[in-house]
Amino acid sequence: MVKTHATQIRLMGTVIDIKVSAVNAKKIVRKTVDKLVYYEKMFSANREDSELMAINLAAGEHPVVVSNELFELIRIGKYHSCQKNSFLNIAIGPLVKSWKIGFSGAKVPLKTDIESLLAITNPEKIKLNDEKKSVYLEQKGMFIDLGALAKGYISDRIVDYYKRQQIESAILNLGGNVIVYGEAPHKDGYFRVGIQNPREPRSKCLAGVKAKNQSVVTSGIYERVLKVGDETYHHIINPKTGYPVETDVASLTIISHLSVDGEIWTTRLFGKNSQEIVDEVNQLPEIECIVIDKENQLYYSIGIQSNLI
Ligand code: ADP
Ligand code: MG
Repeated sequence: MVKTHATQIRLMGTVIDIKVSAVNAKKIVRKTVDKLVYYEKMFSANREDSELMAINLAAGEHPVVVSNELFELIRIGKYHSCQKNSFLNIAIGPLVKSWKIGFSGAKVPLKTDIESLLAITNPEKIKLNDEKKSVYLEQKGMFIDLGALAKGYISDRIVDYYKRQQIESAILNLGGNVIVYGEAPHKDGYFRVGIQNPREPRSKCLAGVKAKNQSVVTSGIYERVLKVGDETYHHIINPKTGYPVETDVASLTIISHLSVDGEIWTTRLFGKNSQEIVDEVNQLPEIECIVIDKENQLYYSIGIQSNLI
């Protein structure tokens, strides 16, 4: 008999909800938690003992041989960081650590510090050796931060695991990254995923999408912020300026099959204006988007229209 089991854990600086419907739902939820813990230790930029940290600590000194998954995510991240006009840069670490937005001790760095840190954020200087599966950061002080991508990549690995099991359905919510798997208990088999109203506290929705075996990733400027006087600084840093991205977008949602694609494109496109984002997503067959601007205006790509609620 199919049962439903759910749990909530705190990990990766966020709250994670897991819900599985399966004959052995409890075991699958437990394995899901194990995998989250395992991958957090691989990808975290905030723990001294992570595999990623070994690369960062060896910057300017020597290459580090790493797990296949870490190598792959850095390869994907580097590729998208090096594309023209991309706002994603996985080498942004030195600036993220200086701003510390979302952590205690957050502050506006000195302009001179920002300038010198920008010099050690060039993603081209991440050197990958495909044969050895090693990563080398060419300059001392370089620091890879996979915070924008890891949750999506990990979700995809968990979905790979679900595909090997007998599961009726599963929902993962990693602090705003929602992944739905299998048949929803609705007549049409689609899950309903809410898109948060940027002006309201959590769980108030402005819109929703119907989704099936899909990922719905939202990046917003309203969650993690630093307030100094009248200024509000959010946590997505413009790799060109070293300051938070200036934008008229309050939240950007990407709907895709792979969750890592949602992560890549929410950050890659974040500095563009709402209409530019929609135009660009309309050219990309793999992804759809919903944009909410600071006036709470809604924009969306052509392909998502029929699934919009
Ligand atoms: P969240 O879902 O936690 O809000 P995002 O997926 O939007 O996070 O990624 C934000 C995180 O990515 C930041 O906390 C920081 O660690 C890192 N980051 C900030 N700016 C950039 C950037 N321009 N490129 C890549 N990573 C970034
Ligand atoms: Mg992201």
